[in-house]
Amino acid sequence: MTPSGTSILVGIAASPGIAIGRCWSVDRRRVRTPKRRLAPEEVDAELARLRTALELSDLQLSEVKEKVERAEGAPGTAEHTAIIDMHRMMLKDEMLVLEAQRLVREDRLNAEWAVKRAVRKIKSAFHEHADEYFKERRADVDYVGERIIKNLLGQAPDVDEVPPEGAIVVAHDLSPADTALLLHERKVAAFVTDAGAKTSHTAIVARALEVPAVVGVGRITTLASRGDWIVVDGSRGVVVINPTPGERADYEAAQARYRAEETELLRTRDLPARTQDDVTVRLAGNIEFAEEVPSLLSHGGEAVGLYRTEFLFLGRSDLPTEEEHYQDYRRVLEALAPRPVTIRTFDLGGDKLPAGMRVHAENPALGLRAIRYCLRQPDLFRSQLRALLRASVHGNLRIMFPMISGVAELRAARKALDDARADLEREGVPLKAGIPVGIMIELPSAAMIADRLAKECAFFSIGTNDLIQYTIGIDRQNKDVAYLYKPLHLAVLRLLKQICDAGRAANIPVSMCGEMAGEPVNALVLLGLGVSELSMNGPSIPFVKRIVRAARAADGRALLERLLSLTVADDIEREVRTEMERRFPGLLEDEANVGPVSG
Ligand code: PEP
Ligand code: MG
Repeated sequence: MTPSGTSILVGIAASPGIAIGRCWSVDRRRVRTPKRRLAPEEVDAELARLRTALELSDLQLSEVKEKVERAEGAPGTAEHTAIIDMHRMMLKDEMLVLEAQRLVREDRLNAEWAVKRAVRKIKSAFHEHADEYFKERRADVDYVGERIIKNLLGQAPDVDEVPPEGAIVVAHDLSPADTALLLHERKVAAFVTDAGAKTSHTAIVARALEVPAVVGVGRITTLASRGDWIVVDGSRGVVVINPTPGERADYEAAQARYRAEETELLRTRDLPARTQDDVTVRLAGNIEFAEEVPSLLSHGGEAVGLYRTEFLFLGRSDLPTEEEHYQDYRRVLEALAPRPVTIRTFDLGGDKLPAGMRVHAENPALGLRAIRYCLRQPDLFRSQLRALLRASVHGNLRIMFPMISGVAELRAARKALDDARADLEREGVPLKAGIPVGIMIELPSAAMIADRLAKECAFFSIGTNDLIQYTIGIDRQNKDVAYLYKPLHLAVLRLLKQICDAGRAANIPVSMCGEMAGEPVNALVLLGLGVSELSMNGPSIPFVKRIVRAARAADGRALLERLLSLTVADDIEREVRTEMERRFPGLLEDEANVGPVSG
């Protein structure tokens, strides 16, 4: 805290943009759980009390769901209702209900205590899975447990007060149901939470709705009070509580610059991403939910380059049906038609599985995931392939298999697709002919035999996130080795060139959908490689387009040649930055300097 009463906090930049508004703190502090041993004759009444609290909790959640559904069409509705459904399933989960009942009956704990103990047991099971996603799901179990306990105590469990429009919502953690209510009822300006990570639902929902958010701040709730002025810089993960008049003016100017910049960038929304020397690159979007499509289109996305369908699984504890998959794919295909939509089959496995289907694996990233998992689970794979084929008549579908390591795996996946097609044809279901089938190139083995793979598929999409992980041998989620995560490492560059050359020789398009595709500083290098489609988060598209339109692909090729003659990744990075600053003076600063705080 500075002498002026201003605090500057740094967290995780979860959703970009700058917001300035009054703090609306939501008290999500844990309830105190009373603990008491029951007399034997009290057990039955306690079990009845528990049952009532479970029923009440379910009723309340169904009311929340109804509210959300009334706002149907608002972005984020489907993922919100899926999350609420997941919570309702938890209320019926044996691990929770039977365990709590057992504790009441056998250990004679009061119901509140029994629920708390059952929740702790489930969470410790989750804890064994280091995966970020499942750490986040522990918050969901807490949320459900807290709701039951509050109902046992006769307390109102909901965030019943509605924040005023333009408020900055500050909370220790926001449950998905809280987020759903806050976002659907009012237009809040931003979110800040003590807890959370990039993959938390609050972060995903905020990005989908383009609400700036900073999460993982640590102690915002102890420093900010209702009514305080707060600045949220969601692009940098900075939060300023009670800014000085000077700071506030600086941020207002930064906000105006950010908005002007966005408007300026969006002027070219409907223009092609064509270089000065007439090379056109398709700028597409990566999505995790169908709800992200409007934002993608409003940023000038020309296609969906990667739909990560496994997200449909991860927000729930049961398996989606073929019909649910079909409806979801159909929605995205129709929204984009006639533009192409590349739907990637499930990248599930390791810890990325619904509860009840998880198995412990020492090295999940090297284990049974993605296509390996699907080939091992033919029924699950078949239901997705059938849904995709059925949806094919509603738009311009491209099907993509993830984590292909070699030709045999590609053939096995194609055979599963052919079998699904044959079944549907026998059933007389209308299907589209000639759906392009492509693969992610995200394993070094695939990159090295790209020439052979290219003969057996219609397109490549380079997944740099995994390709870099597996090439340099670093866990992409481990911050201790993050310093080694270098897209411009010579080994990565050589592989990228090999993939693109193989694609060109076989005359198949090569796309890139890893994070590298959306980094403006790399745009010239990617033009040099001859990538035909770049797929990224919707909001990154306008900036990348600006660079593509100002660039010459021939300059990119010359730059690439120079880079391949260098050796050390730092030297390669420096060369790229110098070239970009020389060719596009001030442009990269525009991207980096939206806020007044440097760093
Ligand atoms: C990648 O690996 O680059 C990719 C796009 O896939 P994901 O990030 O979903 O693993
Ligand atoms: Mg990947």
